[in-house]
Amino acid sequence: MKIGLFGGTFDPIHFGHILPVKEARTQLGLDRVVYLPTAIPPHKSGGQVAPPHARWTMVELALLSEPGLVADPFELTPQREAFTVDSVEHFRSAFPAADLYLLIGCDSFAELHTWKRWKDLVDMVKLAVLVRPDWRPGALEAQLTPEVAALMEADRVCFITNQPVAVSATRLRRVLAEGGQPAEGWLPELVLEYIHKYNLYQ
Ligand code: ATP
Repeated sequence: MKIGLFGGTFDPIHFGHILPVKEARTQLGLDRVVYLPTAIPPHKSGGQVAPPHARWTMVELALLSEPGLVADPFELTPQREAFTVDSVEHFRSAFPAADLYLLIGCDSFAELHTWKRWKDLVDMVKLAVLVRPDWRPGALEAQLTPEVAALMEADRVCFITNQPVAVSATRLRRVLAEGGQPAEGWLPELVLEYIHKYNLYQ
């Protein structure tokens, strides 16, 4: 069995979190991809995030009609920062025979060397890097530390050739806070309805 893991703040979830993942699922032949919304994200310095239950609900709404994409609350409950290595250890022991893939955007991949116990992490999974619009192959490689770059030579990383999706949660929150309307194709309609119902970003 092949399982993809995809952690994030998802504040809010948008099509950049969904379309590249669907392409990764197809390209890697993943049985399913497990989204792990994080209650307390370690990599977001400062700034408020929407409550964990709201981000969880938006992920559920967004994935409702997406076969093979599911949400798991493993990172949602701890009253402490959630580290990816701990989640991966959990899934490694829950599914000892599975091939685990960790899906990450190329911006996150460039910061991998700052993650807690990142070397243990990459021993347990294969990394699947998703393209973001501002990404150029040469520019990303120039940002990697030699140890992270070596992972590519060791065949621990695969690059998904997904269609870039030009939306970020930061931009989306800014538009919503200014009372603007997100462009078509930024996020699922149900998620937008939920955001408006609870005035999440105003
Ligand atoms: P923010 O703008 O608030 O930092 P984000 O979407 O970058 O939001 P997360 O919700 O934590 O932050 O992202 C979860 C994962 O999705 C990360 O690995 C990130 O790199 C990836 N990701 C986010 N947006 C895109 C996108 N448009 N295309 C591909 N991957 C993306």
